[in-house]
Amino acid sequence: MDLSYILNHLGEERARYDGAVAPPLVQSSIFAFPTVAAMREGFRDEYAEHLYTRGNNPTVAILRRKIAALEGAEDCLAFGSGAAAVAAGVVACVKAGDHVVCVAKPYSWTRGLLRDLLAKFGVTTTFVDGTDAANFEAAITPATTLIVLESPNSMTYEQQDLAAVAAIARRRGIRTLCDNSHATPLNQSPIALGIDLVAHSATKYLNGHSDVVAGVLCGSEALLREVFKGPYMTFGAMLSPHDAWLMLRGLRTLGVRMERIAATTREVLAFLETHPRVRHVHAPHASANPQLGLSERQLKGASGLVTIELDAVDVAAVERFCDGLERFLMTVSWGGYESLAFPVCAVFPSDAPLRAAGTSSLALVRLSIGLEEPAVLIADLEQALARL
Ligand SMILES: *Cc1c(COP(=O)(O)O)cnc(C)c1O
Repeated sequence: MDLSYILNHLGEERARYDGAVAPPLVQSSIFAFPTVAAMREGFRDEYAEHLYTRGNNPTVAILRRKIAALEGAEDCLAFGSGAAAVAAGVVACVKAGDHVVCVAKPYSWTRGLLRDLLAKFGVTTTFVDGTDAANFEAAITPATTLIVLESPNSMTYEQQDLAAVAAIARRRGIRTLCDNSHATPLNQSPIALGIDLVAHSATKYLNGHSDVVAGVLCGSEALLREVFKGPYMTFGAMLSPHDAWLMLRGLRTLGVRMERIAATTREVLAFLETHPRVRHVHAPHASANPQLGLSERQLKGASGLVTIELDAVDVAAVERFCDGLERFLMTVSWGGYESLAFPVCAVFPSDAPLRAAGTSSLALVRLSIGLEEPAVLIADLEQALARL
């Protein structure tokens, strides 16, 4: 199935809606049955039937089909946030007494889920440096039921060899979940490499317009049925039909957005890597990345995340740089049409999420490259760097 077919046509039964080109927004919480027999049938398999929008909704269903096709998965569940998608996938795979192995620097709320929340329910987690697949093998215990991956991660972009970790897990009957938000399904296909569950913060590139918080979880139908019967229906953190409709619109341009972002990021990277006031550039395709070989093998293309370590004498200099940016909006998150800057260490000087991430620098700023002209972004970075 080609990309434009998935984005433009898959799942859209236009003849049912008078040929409407835009998909219907079915803003209904419930679906009525003509007979008792039909209602009985509806209750028999809530995973497949339209009964109640916490379980199924026609607008959300179009989105689920498209994302599943993008990931090469049998099916997909849609959630009200990426955090909900990751949590549902993890919770479905563990019970009290089980053990999880997770990469050392996952998204902060994934770490919180495993280290704090699930620990209260008797699930323990070992965090390992995922850049060497042997570390997963060493951390596995007889109680391990799940390995949680995030490749590349969203701050310093460490990667895991997904095929190697999947093979280690499969030999032992351990399930694997990979957060694929950074790469997008266009640049990385974890299911094809043997990963069981793929999660996304669809808030980022999949929606791409900074107007929806959403998440998706892809996998086999059998596994997603477990997720559906467990955390999906129980926690009820589903995606609203309206947000699914907005996401269908955002998704139309996923291909062209990612192409443009990759091209601009290449130019911005080349500028930053040679600038004397930039000490280090973190990105999967940065020339100094020790995992550059894996980036080239495992990623089909670049995304727009670049973290720079400024040659700054103090936090005030970092602030001068960030405050001086005119075309980068200063905020959290990433993956939208607009370029962003997140001065993570200047905002959290004592917290040290980045110290946990293996650097003591207060001068790290994460950039998310958007759809602006490359020359505009480079000129803006140049004038802001002059303020250091
Ligand atoms: C943002 C993010 C999440 C959480 O997604 P939300 O949509 O904000 O709940 C999970 N993983 C990664 C890598 C993220 O960047």
